[in-house]
Amino acid sequence: MLLFWQMQNKNDEYFMHAALRQARKALQNNEVPVGAVIVHNGRIIARGWNEREKKQDPCRHAEIAAIQRAARALGNWRLLDCALYVTLEPCAMCAGAIVLARIPRVIYAAADPKAGACGSVFNILAEKKLNHHPAVISGVLADEAGQMLKDFFRAARKNEVERISLPPRAVASHLTSRPLRSLSSSQNSLTAKYSLSKSSSTQ
Ligand SMILES: [Zn+2]
Repeated sequence: MLLFWQMQNKNDEYFMHAALRQARKALQNNEVPVGAVIVHNGRIIARGWNEREKKQDPCRHAEIAAIQRAARALGNWRLLDCALYVTLEPCAMCAGAIVLARIPRVIYAAADPKAGACGSVFNILAEKKLNHHPAVISGVLADEAGQMLKDFFRAARKNEVERISLPPRAVASHLTSRPLRSLSSSQNSLTAKYSLSKSSSTQ
């Protein structure tokens, strides 16, 4: 039993590293760094990263992108025998999609105490009134995932402070020379939303 648990834990870390690579893709595109992969029979069948800014789509979270790709890969909207790995606790929308897709197992890294819907704010995946209850494991590589988010928001805040403190003419050249966009109002709220505390591991 202990050996099984250790092997499972190792597998979870392996696939969470793959999800973290997706989060880095988001980071490279100046998106909030969240990544996800979906595993079926021990193989990654779909990947996704947060593309909300690029697509200007409020629903384009990493989990949604991965779920849509997995359904296409399997030719089936029911993602049976699948596990979803994601670097941040799913929000209410993504938890709803997980239930609708019948995903039996969800593993996330960092908790989201402001918007997480797998135990932090809501617990949609354990809601008795719903007809599907995935197994949930939290805290896998939470430090790495949380640090990436913290670094992202620290850089975004610094960029914003520098922009505000510069004289108007300097602001224009400053903005064009900086790859990281100034904070939008939605990102500002995310700064508070993703004020991460260390995930409480329930592994
Ligand atoms: Zn979400």
